[in-house]
Amino acid sequence: MKLIINNNFVNRICDLSIDSDESFEIKGLRDSHCHLMWLGMQENGLKLDSCKSFEEVISISLAFQKSNSSFWLNGRGWNNENWKNKTLPTNDLLNKFFPDRPVFLKRIDGHAALTNNVALDLAKIDLHTNDPSGGKIQRDSNGKATGLLIDNAIELIEDIIPRPSDDEFIKHLLTAQDKCLELGLLEVHDMDVHLDWLPYFNHLANEKLLNLKVKSYIRGFDGVFLSKCNIPYIINNLEIAGLKFFADGALGSRGAALIEDYSDDAGNKGLFLIDEDSFFNYSMKGAKLGFEISTHAIGDAANRFTLHNYTKLRNNGVKVALRIEHCQMVHPDDILKFKELNIHAAIQPIHCISDKDMAYNRIGERVNYSYPWKSLLELGIEISGGSDFPIESPDPILGINAFISHDINWQKKEIIGLEDALNIYGVIK
Ligand SMILES: [Zn+2]
Repeated sequence: MKLIINNNFVNRICDLSIDSDESFEIKGLRDSHCHLMWLGMQENGLKLDSCKSFEEVISISLAFQKSNSSFWLNGRGWNNENWKNKTLPTNDLLNKFFPDRPVFLKRIDGHAALTNNVALDLAKIDLHTNDPSGGKIQRDSNGKATGLLIDNAIELIEDIIPRPSDDEFIKHLLTAQDKCLELGLLEVHDMDVHLDWLPYFNHLANEKLLNLKVKSYIRGFDGVFLSKCNIPYIINNLEIAGLKFFADGALGSRGAALIEDYSDDAGNKGLFLIDEDSFFNYSMKGAKLGFEISTHAIGDAANRFTLHNYTKLRNNGVKVALRIEHCQMVHPDDILKFKELNIHAAIQPIHCISDKDMAYNRIGERVNYSYPWKSLLELGIEISGGSDFPIESPDPILGINAFISHDINWQKKEIIGLEDALNIYGVIK
């Protein structure tokens, strides 16, 4: 079956994985969880998402540095799940090939990064540095940092990397917008928007250069919004609507918070990225100011933790929309809470397809209650679909096809129909 996306910006014919000669036309779709600035940065910078080995990461980085004169070499997009040897890397090769300049390469999910020793030295990370809360500095058997940083430990490096210029930030946003429009997206929910980026969004919206409708969820977990942006607002196509929190990390880097141990790492239950009190205080303050509250929760413990916080918010009279992003592992004892508390589930179906082997290794039989698309839908819970780009491709058709047809045995019970999938993707007819 063909889907034609036709609007002022694009005329695109897409293949849906349904065996039929029919076709139908729509105006566009919405991606309900993405990262515009990251997409632009990835498109305009050192892009590692196509690498099939760590050696390829090195060779692409070496080629890129020839055309790039800045002191720091920043890349993003590597994914060890796409390599033959799937283990998370250490920085030995980076140190060998980049002995003089700092290198910072973020994993595709943004929940891990590899740095060389020059960068570690600049950030003063050594044998005596403690792991920050919600983060991990990976170390060898002698306690020496291997260059791999997990979750909140990534900020130890990010805090010392020079900021791009204003023009570069604007360019990244425009690049990301073009990419969305050419794929047929007319609307996005942009997640974890840094407060420092708001002037660039405001500028584009004020100048009517934002052709994409952007609903933003600004960074909430550190409470900085209270002093920098303490009220939701709308400028033309831009709506600053909500706050984004993180309950845990991701499955790939074993940072997702689980109720029981990882199946492939006994004794490890993952990481919580925020403590219960800060989560409640900041989300309560934000909700009172009129912000929607949205929280990243992947592991079953993180979903339970988030639902617990949302219960407290509702008990304190909070009426704003409450969202859980990803909802990858929802323990069967917890799923009805989505209904009771009127929680919106923001789901990225393509993660399940990309991560199927890794997810099974990490959580074993618990896959049977994971990625609960149809289960949530049948409970009458409001669901929206997205890609989490640039972690996945921004192409909404990949997500729609993932929802309606795939060959993962343990996930077949959660396949949904085309009409539901289109509605979840905010179809604009
Ligand atoms: Zn995300």
